[in-house]
Amino acid sequence: MQLMNWQKMSADHRQQALARPVQKTSTALLETVQGILTQVKAEGDAAVLALTEKFDKVALPNLRYSTEQIDAQAARLDAKVRQAIDTAYDTIKRFHEAQRPQNIQVETRPGVTCEQRFTALQSVGLYVPGGTATLPSTALMLGVPAQIAGCQQVVLVSPPDANGDLSPALMYAAQRCGITEVYRCGGAQAIAALAFGTETVPRVDKVFGPGNSYVTAAKQLVAQRSDGCAMDMPAGPSELLVIADATANPAFVAADLLSQAEHGADSQVILLTTSAAMLEKVEQQLMQQLAQLSRRDIATQALASSALIQVADIEQAVAISQDYAPEHLSLQFAEPQQWLAKLTTAGSVFVGDYTPEAGGDYATGTNHVLPTYGFSKVYSSLGLLDFYRRYTVQTATKAGLAELAEAITTLADTEGLDAHKRAVTIRMEASS
Ligand SMILES: [Zn+2]
Repeated sequence: MQLMNWQKMSADHRQQALARPVQKTSTALLETVQGILTQVKAEGDAAVLALTEKFDKVALPNLRYSTEQIDAQAARLDAKVRQAIDTAYDTIKRFHEAQRPQNIQVETRPGVTCEQRFTALQSVGLYVPGGTATLPSTALMLGVPAQIAGCQQVVLVSPPDANGDLSPALMYAAQRCGITEVYRCGGAQAIAALAFGTETVPRVDKVFGPGNSYVTAAKQLVAQRSDGCAMDMPAGPSELLVIADATANPAFVAADLLSQAEHGADSQVILLTTSAAMLEKVEQQLMQQLAQLSRRDIATQALASSALIQVADIEQAVAISQDYAPEHLSLQFAEPQQWLAKLTTAGSVFVGDYTPEAGGDYATGTNHVLPTYGFSKVYSSLGLLDFYRRYTVQTATKAGLAELAEAITTLADTEGLDAHKRAVTIRMEASS
């Protein structure tokens, strides 16, 4: 971790300081994933079971986690965790229900009506990562909008533990979202199973959810294939950018930076502050708090590619943030509301000293599946709309078509499409 002063840095140094850790999308990784896709496409369940044994070190009798197994696991859940999941379910549901899209209908000319309608995706696959942490929160972030949208088929996949089980918290979250189709598999093989379908895993229209570089590569590869399926968004390692002034609480700032750093060794955290004293206080707090974390090794590695930077003023910090386009953006300075309209390229914004990034990870109600790696400039945060597609409808009366006949036939002439022109004139000439 380095302490820097933006004013004194060269253009190269500035770029270097904000460069994201290099992503592992090597040819070797792509070849491995491609091999897994081919294997699952050809051998179905047998391939997924074999790959689960190889990567997750567990030999399963089958992939499906039965309703009895889901219920039994969920029933084992501690009451306190159950209540926490209930709270998160409630806030996420409230916020996403308010996002319900409205169909629109516009008369573009007398007798010509155009509509934009929304329809829920038929079948969706929800990928919940396993590995170093079990993530019931991700099941809620994906499962609640799928439930509200009313997708007919919702399939959840997640890598099993050493006993071939999925955690009680994950199964309770699935239950709350009304998910009954659960399969024990992870990695690229799980994405392949969802994209192509196997004897037991149904093929879905779109896959959602974060994952490691293998999962991300698999999602991108299946999305390019005509026999594959769509994907939610490109997502990589987690990021947080904090903007703080002298009024911020350095302990809060450090806690937020660490909460993001502990996600993974490749996470990136950046502090921009107008106060030199704050820079040092945050560094001290980081060292103090880091020592107490169970995941301090991961957080330490993440801090290595992170930066604490002194800036001239809030305006400069805002400009840097707009350019960096962080996944999470935390505003811990006086009167943040005044700057909000200018801070548009972030996945999710956390306003004020009492809105920690951890709040959005779990329970404020916003979605925690967000674009990373600068994709916040063009991609949206996951929301209810991602579980719908929109399409259009138009209805014209004879009088309505007459209003547009001249324009349509002239444009058809210009493009040399005679049959198009005829499709209009034949109607205009018709007696009734
Ligand atoms: Zn987080």
